[in-house]
Amino acid sequence: MKFKKIDTYILEYPEPNDFSTHRFTLLLRIETEEGIVGWGEGIAMWPEACKAAEILIREGLFPLLKEENPLDIEKCWQMMRKHIWWYGYNNSGLVNFAISAMDIALWDIKGKQLQQPLYSLLGGKVTDRLPANASMHVNQPTIAETIRDIEGYLSQGFQSVKLGFAKKGLSKVGKLNPDYDVNFIKELRTAIGEQPDIMVDIGNGIRWDVATAVKTTRRMEEYNIRWIEEPLYPTDIKGYQTLKAQTQTLIGSGEREWSVDNYQTLLLQDCTDIFGIDPARVQGITAYKKIKDMVSINHRYVNAHAWSTAITSAASLHCSLASDNSLVFELKPIPGPVQYDIVREPIVQDHGWVSIGEAPGLGIEMIEKELLKITIAHQSVTL
Ligand SMILES: [Mg+2]
Repeated sequence: MKFKKIDTYILEYPEPNDFSTHRFTLLLRIETEEGIVGWGEGIAMWPEACKAAEILIREGLFPLLKEENPLDIEKCWQMMRKHIWWYGYNNSGLVNFAISAMDIALWDIKGKQLQQPLYSLLGGKVTDRLPANASMHVNQPTIAETIRDIEGYLSQGFQSVKLGFAKKGLSKVGKLNPDYDVNFIKELRTAIGEQPDIMVDIGNGIRWDVATAVKTTRRMEEYNIRWIEEPLYPTDIKGYQTLKAQTQTLIGSGEREWSVDNYQTLLLQDCTDIFGIDPARVQGITAYKKIKDMVSINHRYVNAHAWSTAITSAASLHCSLASDNSLVFELKPIPGPVQYDIVREPIVQDHGWVSIGEAPGLGIEMIEKELLKITIAHQSVTL
């Protein structure tokens, strides 16, 4: 098999799950001489980062691989990693969005060539379905309105909810003080009862010190939260170790790591229970599988970070179904353009579960006419 053509698309789209903020991402379409098309994504997020990652694909990685067989994915992945040593120390930095897009597209091509769904290529499904989690940003002005939204998602079938704190919008959650946040969790638990899991995602918007993280997590434990995510800055390893020693809740981290190498370091620190992995950031599906295996043999969980387009969701879902250590699958609960408009069949939950069919590769069919409506830059290179 031979490469023939690549197309890159920088998207700008309103995200209803993020207070209708305009977000950006980078998509890649690779076509082979045999006419097989694979799609990939790098979640570069800011317009300038999307432009930089796009150039790295078009002027760096594609020329590097153009004589290779697209089916030799491991070789292509290793070649890309070897090439980037001058771009950023220890496999960090923007180029990982570019590698991710290339790698995901290669897996899509391989699945289509072999007429196999991606999960089959990853060793097959370990589970047929995962519980659907409504992964939302808390942005309603009041706690009562937020609880009403969450009750709506649960009534649609979602089995749990992950709450992004300190996000855009009018909510005071994560912006006022820990007392307000703890009271929110208390009121939510009272409203929805004991059953649905509540995950708390502190994320980038909050800078708690270690004492506050320990104290607030312990107070939230009274309301049975399933896990707490990124309550401290990701590099505060000593802080995480203290938090882990002084609390009884699962701790999530890792979604901001760039590559396999960083996850190994994180595992060795023994302070993370649930490793967030974004295939459109960590050097693709090849890296996801390596990280998932490493985390699995160390008896910890992985959780796909799939908060972008249907391409990343599809890649994440195949990886998650082929994993023995995923607890849930996160979906954005409000339908938006990059999940619903640009593919023929969106990935949705059904009676609280998420699964995927037997279509080859990623199993999604892109609608390029719809894609172009939200494309702000389109480049094409033919060999
Ligand atoms: Mg998160």
